[in-house]
Amino acid sequence: MTDRYNVESFNLDHTQVVAPYVRIADVKRLNGETITKFDLRFTQPNERFIPSDALHSLEHLMAEHSRNHSADVVDLSPMGCRTGFYLIMHGEKTADEVVSLLTQTLQDILDADSVPGCSPIHCGNYRDHDLDGAKLWARRMLSTDEKDLLTVFRKDYAEDELNRLPDWPHRSDR
Ligand SMILES: [Zn+2]
Repeated sequence: MTDRYNVESFNLDHTQVVAPYVRIADVKRLNGETITKFDLRFTQPNERFIPSDALHSLEHLMAEHSRNHSADVVDLSPMGCRTGFYLIMHGEKTADEVVSLLTQTLQDILDADSVPGCSPIHCGNYRDHDLDGAKLWARRMLSTDEKDLLTVFRKDYAEDELNRLPDWPHRSDR
């Protein structure tokens, strides 16, 4: 792979990741402020995807509840491929910190008795929700060891890449 895309995730080899995982996708410094973008991957790319109603409810629930645990949440949005979410945080954050935030948020979802903002006033497609489905995916993420959530790539990936791409750019070069 010699061509680089503008979009970070297009440069990610989706065949080499092991979901579920939490990964830093991008760090941007804008006028002295730092924002960190995370890839919260719930399902294995090109093997499974979350049904749109459950994904939509997870989005509402995570966007609302994550903000009860952190004032630094800028945005949480579903991926179009429906395999996970992007989370943008104010400040330089680690994947460990976000796993902790995600765990607290998903625990709230298990206790939720409704989807926040689920009405024609607050949502653009309020009929397309599935709270029980959202809870299933939350439970699945919570049953994954923290260590496994922090493991992004297949075990032999780094070695393969180093052999194939000696000039692979470092994060700090981009
Ligand atoms: Zn909505």
